[in-house]
Amino acid sequence: MRRIYMDANATTPLLPEVFEAMRPFWIEQFGNASSIHQQGQHARATIDHARESVARLLHCRASEIVFTSGGTESDNLALFGVLNAEAAAHGERPHLITTAIEHHAVLHAAEALAQRGPDRGVEVTFLGCTPQGLIEPDSLRAALRPSTAPRPGTQLVSIMLANNETGVIQPIAELAAIARAHGALFHTDAVQAAGKLPLDLSKTGDLKDVDLLSISGHKMYAPQGTGILFCRRNVRLAPLFFGGSHERQRRPGTENVPGIVALGRAAELAQEWLNPQPGHPSTKSEGLLPFTSGNNPGAPSIAPLSHAMGGATDPLHLAALRDCLETGILDSVEECGVNGAGLPRVCNTTNIYFDHVEAEALVIALDLKGLSVSGGSACQSGATEPSHVLTAMGLSPARARASVRFSLSRLTTGEEIDYALEIIPAAVARLRSLSPTWRRPVEALTQPLPVSALFL
Ligand code: PLP
Repeated sequence: MRRIYMDANATTPLLPEVFEAMRPFWIEQFGNASSIHQQGQHARATIDHARESVARLLHCRASEIVFTSGGTESDNLALFGVLNAEAAAHGERPHLITTAIEHHAVLHAAEALAQRGPDRGVEVTFLGCTPQGLIEPDSLRAALRPSTAPRPGTQLVSIMLANNETGVIQPIAELAAIARAHGALFHTDAVQAAGKLPLDLSKTGDLKDVDLLSISGHKMYAPQGTGILFCRRNVRLAPLFFGGSHERQRRPGTENVPGIVALGRAAELAQEWLNPQPGHPSTKSEGLLPFTSGNNPGAPSIAPLSHAMGGATDPLHLAALRDCLETGILDSVEECGVNGAGLPRVCNTTNIYFDHVEAEALVIALDLKGLSVSGGSACQSGATEPSHVLTAMGLSPARARASVRFSLSRLTTGEEIDYALEIIPAAVARLRSLSPTWRRPVEALTQPLPVSALFL
């Protein structure tokens, strides 16, 4: 059976170019970058090169990049690292402002910081969001203490750039500027934005007021277990671990040379993909597709695109593929809609609720047909909890449990979108025919439905 992968927000495939770049560092080029012999020097030079590549993608200094083991570590290092360093310097009770829609890597770190006990505890404020999933700048303004307050403790704000479930992009430039005006430091979890959106941390860039930014390798076509924390010069960061002086004392431990090489190569490829050069297929007139970040105003006609072969050539192309999928579903399935519609979203993600369907059952039904997608619910203590993100947006538990995330990758093709559109409406209809809350035709109500009908 053919397999189609539409779960890139969970993890992206490793690009062959990335694998080829890292391959020698598993076998013959195995040196430890701290050794002074030739193998060691080679490993050190390779890490330096990868650091430069990442810095070019982010428009920052190479010295501001800390290599980590992934997004979770980067988020934890940002929050604990800043608050530990600042608490040691000031002694005042710090204040962390974050949001109810963050990934658990931030949410649970914030909860742990809040629970550290009365003397070392951090005051934590969780901001809510609008029904579309937007963090309103005024809510941040209201939560920040004025920088003129008597002896204000350190304030750190952590707001994600793009949401992993809905793809909604937050107005980070504005939010970070507000934080800076109040004398607060600003961290953003950019795990779902890196490689999908340009990220400019330079003095004149959109993200000039961002102090710390997290990235995960396996969301940008590098391997699992690799990550990056950008930490702006002059921001004090206490390490989470203790050991050697690697990564400028910010992250001790022998460097993961193959992983770092892969990250560097993935950063170079992301930069090329985000900035296609003249002559690139998508910049030719017949290939130029309108970018629609909302709910498909002016979505391209499906026919020419859906028959295009090969993966998405750039973000506009990927957004057009995503929009084709979204429009196709909305047009062919009743009582469904897009979570986060109407707001800017990253080019690869759509999160759709299918009322009267359990997302988990739909994910399994589609998996059996060869399509990998994911539901937002988490299994906790044996019960399925609706997604905290969708719940924070005000969705009812039933609608949150009926929501499925489709996240395309750069390798997604128009043909795959066609196949998905062939199987999704049928799978939804089948599940609804089994649902006690769905209106079934009168004749069907007289006959019991076999459970096997679920996966036909
Ligand atoms: N932050 C966001 C927004 C994520 O989507 C994820 C992973 O899904 C993480 C952090 C954690 O990253 P990692 O899996 O590299 O630890």
